[in-house]
Amino acid sequence: MARGVAVGYEVVIGLEIHVQMLTRTKMFCACPVAFGAPPNTLTCPVCLGLPGSLPVINRRAVELGLRTAVALNCTVHPASQFHRKNYYYPDLPKNYQITQYRYKVHPPLATDGVLEIPTPDGRRAIGIRRVHLEEDTGRLVHAVRDGRVTHSLVDYNRSGVPLMEIVTEPDLRSPQEARVFLSRLRAVLQALEVSTGRMEEGSLRCDANVSLRRPGDALGTRTEVKNMNSLRAVERALTYEVDRQRALLERGEAVEQETRHWDERREVTFASRAKEEAQDYRYFPEPDLVPIVVDARWLEEIRATLPELPDARRRRYVETFGLSEYDADLLTSSAALARFFEETVRLYPQPKVVCNWLTGDVAAFCHAEGVELDELPVTPDHLAEMLSLIEAGTISGRIAKEILPDVLRGARPRAVVEERGLVQISDEAALAAVVDQVLAEHPGAASEYRAGKVQALTFLVGQVMRRTRGRANPELVNRLLRERLGA
Ligand SMILES: [Zn+2]
Repeated sequence: MARGVAVGYEVVIGLEIHVQMLTRTKMFCACPVAFGAPPNTLTCPVCLGLPGSLPVINRRAVELGLRTAVALNCTVHPASQFHRKNYYYPDLPKNYQITQYRYKVHPPLATDGVLEIPTPDGRRAIGIRRVHLEEDTGRLVHAVRDGRVTHSLVDYNRSGVPLMEIVTEPDLRSPQEARVFLSRLRAVLQALEVSTGRMEEGSLRCDANVSLRRPGDALGTRTEVKNMNSLRAVERALTYEVDRQRALLERGEAVEQETRHWDERREVTFASRAKEEAQDYRYFPEPDLVPIVVDARWLEEIRATLPELPDARRRRYVETFGLSEYDADLLTSSAALARFFEETVRLYPQPKVVCNWLTGDVAAFCHAEGVELDELPVTPDHLAEMLSLIEAGTISGRIAKEILPDVLRGARPRAVVEERGLVQISDEAALAAVVDQVLAEHPGAASEYRAGKVQALTFLVGQVMRRTRGRANPELVNRLLRERLGA
């Protein structure tokens, strides 16, 4: 049976996503948001939770939250309230976190949205339960000697950094759908310039609730899976967890409600020791902060300044560039990729050709190197130049594939082709000489072809290519061979 598919059961997955927002300063104070600064240098009495300090809401963070809420078709509440979530942990100097919670009287920033995802059976709407704002905690650093933790240090630079939490309804039906959803959500956040969306850097963090049930039954017992640091990890961790729960249920055993962590190296989820679910956080309204009031005018302003979102972009690619839904989905899965695509098409107006390179060889290179396209030094005019070289017959498609890694690492295609002597041979006399040599050396293949064995021609073309180190113009080679073979 395929992994991550539970025949006879329905898979139910809901996601909780924490988004680090691109603000200059923290959620409730003027400390800068920055990485790599020496520990505890970006702090003040507010984010250290010193007595008597008073928080002030970051307007920019609220705006970014509202942009997201509107883009996800949520109901934005005219007045929303911050709450204190009380618990004790060394990275939380106040012993409470300021966050928003879903109470009828004090709603979070926004609720009841929707985001569509492509599935093999067409597009499907995934419910967004809520979008709320909160602050990040500090960070514990464990000092290890001889494999044992000797002591722990705490860095409060991250304490108070603005976070947005996006919670979905349990509408996802497979680990693949969870991955696709997260990828679409990331594209929306990138288009809105709300977040970099880089999971590896922690600016997008995802937890998942997973359960199985017999179709029509009530929801089964769920586990919460944490510590997934890439889209790939999300799909693999959830696949493992679905398989694990199915095996338990088929043996007649119960799934325990617990928090499980994904171990990337061993590719398993394991139960954490602490029974985190048992905690009672005692939420209550934050007395030091006034409610966030969003009037119709502010909301209208935000709606009017939203950029083109991935869904609209996808439709435009289908309508104006004539691309398939599938291609358009791939290209709009990342804002950087979509921008790169459009800029290349502006310089080299053949959308399908550009799309094939970007979603094929370029994507494979990025995947193998573990980088995003926008982290590479290549620019759209480099790619356009390479495509023009192919079109002009200066290089073959095969040579283009060969030089692509250099181009992606920043080299100019024309320079690589010249330096490495890869200019395509389109000189008929020069090629004719090679073709005659090959025919003289392989009389067997020549007579096979004349006897009707078409594959023999492919062999002969291959031989010419070998002799010219792939530089021969393939169309010309084909024509010359056919002429000489009397076809
Ligand atoms: Zn501060």
